[in-house]
Amino acid sequence: MGARVIDGKAFAADVRGRVAEHVARLKEEHGIVPGLAVVLVGEDPASQVYVRSKGKMTKEVGMASFEHRLDASVSEAELLELVGRLNADPAVHGILVQLPLPKHMSESNVITAIDPDKDVDGFHIFNVGRLATGQKAMVPCTPLGCLMLLRDLHGSLSGMDAVVIGRSNIVGKPMAQLLLGDSCTVTVAHSRTKDLADVVRRADLVVAAVGRAEMVPGDWIKPGATVIDVGINRVERDGKNVLVGDVDYASCAEVAGAITPVPGGVGPMTIACLLANTLTACCRSNGLPEPE
Ligand code: NDP
Repeated sequence: MGARVIDGKAFAADVRGRVAEHVARLKEEHGIVPGLAVVLVGEDPASQVYVRSKGKMTKEVGMASFEHRLDASVSEAELLELVGRLNADPAVHGILVQLPLPKHMSESNVITAIDPDKDVDGFHIFNVGRLATGQKAMVPCTPLGCLMLLRDLHGSLSGMDAVVIGRSNIVGKPMAQLLLGDSCTVTVAHSRTKDLADVVRRADLVVAAVGRAEMVPGDWIKPGATVIDVGINRVERDGKNVLVGDVDYASCAEVAGAITPVPGGVGPMTIACLLANTLTACCRSNGLPEPE
């Protein structure tokens, strides 16, 4: 295996460390404690795990963590009322409503109700528009984490050919916008893309965000390319439940120049970027310089 393995776990720990230092300075110099409110509706087991670890890491970096757990039967109006209260609460700088929501609610109504300046997930239509037009935005955490890993590895991404596989609103599209913002030549592939293998073979940077276990084989990868695997897929291997990505790690690592593993690649960056976004939101709302 020739590829350099990109250690997202270590990089994420470093990001959280820098956030914690900045949070300590805010407290000491200005008496401000950044606060993140996470709202969980219902009992989805995966969401419960995410919310628990978000709360734990929020406290670890010295921020205030506000958890709101609502029964799956609450009405959309009740949830909107809670969002309204969090919007008005000066101790809350970031609001995250854990998705998916129960079927009787409109996710877009709920996301639109969040104050865009507190929208640390970056899903509000204002932030989507700001990102697309190159304005200061709250940027979705997973693609932001991928961009940070790529910038750390390459420095400038200018002029590189990037292929993003997947066009979801939470990963694929914002990832493409971020790469375009860094002057890559960007192709967005999806389920209707013809000759996907040939499209991927052109890429210096491949970001796979598909949700299909080990779909990208090594012979699709240009030698020396960087492979960022966003996928988290649970599969059974030798009678055990294991996590694998959207790329076939073993064969891709033989050809790629650098690759993220699953787990331990993109995954840990998501929560680190959520904390970084909360800190940014806090600094902006207080008119203070933003973290770099
Ligand atoms: P979505 O299901 O919303 O989107 C998947 C995308 O992949 C769609 O655009 C779809 O195309 C495309 N696609 C599906 N099949 C193919 C195919 N055969 N060839 C090419 N494209 C295809 O998924 P998400 O974007 O939400 O998530 C993608 C993956 O990333 C998942 O494994 C998810 O678990 C993981 N994830 C990881 C996170 C992390 O923190 N590491 C955070 C968020 C997600 P079309 O639009 O045409 O249907």
